[in-house]
Amino acid sequence: MTKTVILVVEDDAPVRNLITTTLDAHDYKYLVAANGRTAIMETSSHNPDIILLDLGLPDMDGVEVIRRIRTWSNVPIIVISARSESTDKIEALDTGADDYLTKPFSVEELLARLRVTRRRLAVMQTGNASPVFMNGSLKLDYAAGRVWMGENELHLTPIEYKLLCILSQNVGKVLTHTYITQKIWGSSWENDVASLRVFMATLRKKLTVDPDMPTLIQTHIGVGYQMLRVD
Ligand code: CA
Repeated sequence: MTKTVILVVEDDAPVRNLITTTLDAHDYKYLVAANGRTAIMETSSHNPDIILLDLGLPDMDGVEVIRRIRTWSNVPIIVISARSESTDKIEALDTGADDYLTKPFSVEELLARLRVTRRRLAVMQTGNASPVFMNGSLKLDYAAGRVWMGENELHLTPIEYKLLCILSQNVGKVLTHTYITQKIWGSSWENDVASLRVFMATLRKKLTVDPDMPTLIQTHIGVGYQMLRVD
């Protein structure tokens, strides 16, 4: 089996070393870059499987690095942010990042994010052209427009269904409020975000047929939502 190659973009040497030591110990291969320019070059020449990207780089903003890489590549990007404000993460996610880690983070958190992203990568690589989406007990037939949890067919409103489609089509990825409301209503006013919360609550209630099943939809407070792959 070929090892997953991670490009680690981080100018802070101790943090970079912590990450690369962790990757080494868990059978990942890695490349490193200490600034944005090198990160873009390494991505274009070595085509890594996943990028871990610090947002505060000496030569350019991490968000700009995402913007440039997204002009030609869909490589999963996990943003590392030292800043506690959620706006940076949100901007990074809206620009095309897949997930984020906030400094200081634990080795376990880093490994968990990588696992989620690898699963997402595996789905991306198999083409994902299937009209049926399965995740744990959830079955979504896009072609028929029908949803089941185990044996039970769910009756969703058009907006709940659309919401579920957006989340499932981006399974493993953190979607911001702006991204989701834009997809559903074509706008992202404060009212839309408030409505989104209401629809999300009713959707979740309908999805909770089996209380023992792990939570499918994770809330990122102040940021957005993420569907986790549970099977
Ligand atoms: Ca930094």
